[in-house]
Amino acid sequence: NRLNNDFQFIDVGRNDPQKKEARKRAKEFSEIYEPYKPTEAASQSHRCLHCGNPYCEWKCPVHNYIPNWLQLVAEGNILEAAELSHKTNTLPEVCGRVCPQDRLCEGACTLNDGFGAVTIGSVEKYITDTAFAMGWRPDMSKVVWTDKKVAIIGAGPAGLGCADILARAGVKSVVFDRYPEIGGLLTFGIPEFKLEKNVMKRRRAVFEEMGIEFRLNTEIGRDVEFDTLLAEYDAVFLGMGTYKYMQGGFPGEDLPGVYKALDYLIANVNHCLGYEKNPEDYISFKDRRVVVLGGGDTAMDCNRTAIRQGATEVTCAYRRDEENMPGSRKEVANAREEGVEFLFNRQPVAVVGEGKVEGVKVVRTRLGEPDENGRQRPEVVPGSEEIIPADAVIVAFGFQASPASWFEGANIQVDERDRVKAPEHGAYAFQTTNQKIFAGGDMVRGSDLVVTAIHEGRQAGEGILDYLQV
Ligand code: FAD
Ligand code: SF4
Repeated sequence: NRLNNDFQFIDVGRNDPQKKEARKRAKEFSEIYEPYKPTEAASQSHRCLHCGNPYCEWKCPVHNYIPNWLQLVAEGNILEAAELSHKTNTLPEVCGRVCPQDRLCEGACTLNDGFGAVTIGSVEKYITDTAFAMGWRPDMSKVVWTDKKVAIIGAGPAGLGCADILARAGVKSVVFDRYPEIGGLLTFGIPEFKLEKNVMKRRRAVFEEMGIEFRLNTEIGRDVEFDTLLAEYDAVFLGMGTYKYMQGGFPGEDLPGVYKALDYLIANVNHCLGYEKNPEDYISFKDRRVVVLGGGDTAMDCNRTAIRQGATEVTCAYRRDEENMPGSRKEVANAREEGVEFLFNRQPVAVVGEGKVEGVKVVRTRLGEPDENGRQRPEVVPGSEEIIPADAVIVAFGFQASPASWFEGANIQVDERDRVKAPEHGAYAFQTTNQKIFAGGDMVRGSDLVVTAIHEGRQAGEGILDYLQV
């Protein structure tokens, strides 16, 4: 029988879901991978060796029960797989789409030794998408609601992770966000070709059915005072992300035609989703030559958005080599297929132009001694200056923590990099220096990943339950 064959991986190779053809997808703001068919999901899941030491589970930041749900999918038991998958992850269908699996679960798969890792991310996405389509919803029938209530600031993955844990334990949460839809950067950052927006809309409906309340278009500190939340709720969770731009600090950065990555991406999302308040906010690179500076996920998303807008050329300049790029390898490959040109070992030293962008001056680099994080520092090659012609430049160097003005009054301390101090292994997980306030996600660890933000939000939820003695 097929399910008794532990050596399926020999007969069946790794097969990612079908990708749309590059020329076609480079014109569309929709996901590029087709869903698995049930037989494909089953046979790919059945490739799992059940190696006995699931490194994939350890490498996954939320420690998903990967081999167990792979087995259930191989058996065609999707609803049970969905239940199991939601025991450890609040947004499995999102992680399946956007996690850099090559660095996490799939990177740790035993089958990497010559056979190709199990397509863990794609199966994870398949489970939840299929279960929802079958009418499955998280089982809340045994939840007994307590009289406790918690305010959550930020409807990004950290805030949603926290709300999920609280709701399942019978603690009511109200999630505040300044944006008109939930998701944080999942909605207002990551573009539709990686994650279609109806995924988060569907999730919002599910969360609301679970008893989680959202108050959108509400900025804490402007529309509602933080002190009001502190007085009205039994605890507060902060999942506000990081939104301070890292700048290059080189001449010409303020020339017209130089854009900040997130301003550009958010304007595009607002335009595509009809949230645009002023049509002048939309930034289009149609018929323009674009240079994107940076090598992370944000840079990759800008590259591919510009291609879809009809830019004539998109060049991505990064100061280290391809091996050392922080962005997901899969997304770099996708960007390349769609027509993005990469210039590695190039460090920008100026944006040049008379009253508007005409190009980016770069120098060549080679990798030298490791820095304090163990990454080799790029060193400038003398006399290697060149100019890349451009009509527009996007600076995508990442984000730093951005503490709110009310943190000090609320006794919320930050570290030397402005990240909120909230240790995972303190008296209560992710409690800040104010015992009633908890925090997690990018604002605590610095810009990182969706799955790490979910993990911290969930752990903070557990910390709040202990603190409230629920
Ligand atoms: P966020 O997602 O930033 O959510 C914070 C929320 O808090 C926002 O909705 C914000 O509006 C709200 N908020 C802030 N202040 C207030 C206030 N005062 N009042 C009310 N609401 C407030 N990670 C991956 O794993 N894979 C990827 O492919 C990937 N791609 C990325 C692409 C881009 C362009 C960017 C910028 C990031 C990407 N990341 C990716 C990183 C990932 O999106 C973040 O690490 C993750 O979203 C952090 O979650 P969070 O909940 O901490 O914060
Ligand atoms: Fe892999 Fe991310 Fe899913 Fe964990 S959450 S199994 S790392 S795709």
